[in-house]
Amino acid sequence: MFEITFLGTSASAPSVHRGLSAQVVKHDEYRFLIDCGEGTQRQLLKSGLGFKRLNRVLITHGHLDHILGLGGLLSTFMRWEAIEEIEIMGGRSALARVGDLLFGVVLRGIEPPVDLNLRVIKPGVIFENDDFTVTAFPVSHRGPDCFGYAFEGKPRRPFLPEKAEALNIPPGPWRRDLVAGKQATIPDGRKIEPDQVLGLERPGAKLVHVGDAGQVRNLVDPVRDADALVIEATYLEQDAEMGQRFGHLTAHQAAKLAFEAGVKNLILTHISRRYRERNVLEEARVIFPDVYVARDFDTYLIKTGECLKINE
Ligand SMILES: [Zn+2]
Ligand SMILES: [Zn+2]
Repeated sequence: MFEITFLGTSASAPSVHRGLSAQVVKHDEYRFLIDCGEGTQRQLLKSGLGFKRLNRVLITHGHLDHILGLGGLLSTFMRWEAIEEIEIMGGRSALARVGDLLFGVVLRGIEPPVDLNLRVIKPGVIFENDDFTVTAFPVSHRGPDCFGYAFEGKPRRPFLPEKAEALNIPPGPWRRDLVAGKQATIPDGRKIEPDQVLGLERPGAKLVHVGDAGQVRNLVDPVRDADALVIEATYLEQDAEMGQRFGHLTAHQAAKLAFEAGVKNLILTHISRRYRERNVLEEARVIFPDVYVARDFDTYLIKTGECLKINE
């Protein structure tokens, strides 16, 4: 299960209601900040998420509306030291610009008081633990090495309480071993095999985030079967030519991608001040009914086959 909170949903410049690109993906105690537009610090505070455990940042690309907030964030961390280390991951050219901002402007020769690590990534798995993976994949936008990120839970066999009850297995720490696929000895001395209490394997949830993108052809595979796809929709079809010129998608293109890739739910973001939210939604909905337009501070819960907006 993943949770995504939108901190900024505006394209290029902020509006009265929308901040610049930033979102936090949570899974248990893990947090990933994806992009960090100007104003992200205040949005983090307003959202209630705060700065805690915010030690992993994924950058989609190096345009200023996606990175300028890193300067302020690091500056706060320097004074507060709420965290001990921060890892910023992204393509080479995006990180070169982030490096200029952080080392050239914010730090200017001072040793960072937090362990600051800029990590150039390549397509493939960039994070993995027992529970889930994060995979980076290439996205075409203006400029080189732009990335999208797929968060995927590992397949699991659910613990079936009715089976445990039938076998008279009392609740206790041995349940954890059984769920982890290990044999367990319960207090009455019996040895229980995982197969006795676990159901059939279920796929983990899949949440995919695509930042700015100029085309969808190379995105069908990476976003396939996602339970939720978050993607930009800067333009409407009436301005498709302009979208093409600036390397952005229309709501129509985003919806078509979701449909073709068998995505379950679509969340549009990077919304231009040029349009009404309703029109963006309507254009996409004709092609893909399970669509939302993200607003700042929206939070969605993504489970296998499910996407719930939880802050209504
Ligand atoms: Zn942008
Ligand atoms: Zn951009």
